[in-house]
Amino acid sequence: MKRQSIFTFFAVLAAAGMLQAQNPIISEIFTADPAPLVHGDTVYLYAGHDAATLEDTNYKMPDWYVFSSKDMVNWKNHGSVLSPATFSWATGEAYAAHTVERNGKFYWFVSTFHKKDDNSNGGAAIGVAVADTPTGPFRDAIGKALIVNEMTTDMKHAWDDIDPAVFIDDDGQGYLFWGNGSCKWVKLKENMIELDGQIATLELKNFIEAPWIYKRKKLYYLIYAGKGTKPEMIEYATSKSIQGPWQYRGILAENAPKSFTIHPGVIDFKGKTYFFYHNGELPQGGSYRRGICLDYLYFNKDGSMKKIIQTKEGVKAVKQ
Ligand code: CA
Repeated sequence: MKRQSIFTFFAVLAAAGMLQAQNPIISEIFTADPAPLVHGDTVYLYAGHDAATLEDTNYKMPDWYVFSSKDMVNWKNHGSVLSPATFSWATGEAYAAHTVERNGKFYWFVSTFHKKDDNSNGGAAIGVAVADTPTGPFRDAIGKALIVNEMTTDMKHAWDDIDPAVFIDDDGQGYLFWGNGSCKWVKLKENMIELDGQIATLELKNFIEAPWIYKRKKLYYLIYAGKGTKPEMIEYATSKSIQGPWQYRGILAENAPKSFTIHPGVIDFKGKTYFFYHNGELPQGGSYRRGICLDYLYFNKDGSMKKIIQTKEGVKAVKQ
């Protein structure tokens, strides 16, 4: 091509948005811990919010945000719609969360910290907010925590009860998975705000935190942040039953650039499977100033997942 025609060629591509980097998909604020939910023709993305300054050496996560998209490229910001202040029993940070729909209501399971009677920090806890629409307004569904640190004792640290992941199986049975250091699970009653049985702990190779349950062709996938060859990577296990036993299947995604955590969210939408995660690649980003990213997830014929290719381009717009 002549120089002029090459210029024209790239100008056309740029105008069409085809050269534009899409990842991270949210750039107006720092976001982390993606939890996507498909509702009708829209994907709702529930996200943590990194408010740490460049000088901070720990997480500063004051609230949770909701975004939505119909094409996976253009994301609408619905704002900060939930914070630990919504829960009278809570104190501290807005850690990872997960929203599911049941019987026309939207249940937002969150991890934050439990406040003791003397207002001191009583360890990590999981609560539930509920709303009539995907974007709220959300209120405390229980008036107390669903899971508190004392309910699990296999780990000695006070923040092992974080990172809720909720899954409602085809038979209607709901499950809650969560944990840091070990992966725990329990059945949920249909009202979504009460446990339905004993808490169990899984043997899961390399598990650190951030479980996510996904089901495809009668096979269950337990996807999580693990130690990999160096922490954190996304690893996964599969099972023919959600109650296990789980078979370790390897690394799904390598370390995310400029962030020592990574966090999975997997959905099917309009014929494709999508993998949400976060990295530290936004300008002035880092481990405490992350950005949510989106890439495709592909499968092998035997049902195993192909390793995620983390791209700057992200995914293409879904045709309306
Ligand atoms: Ca505990």
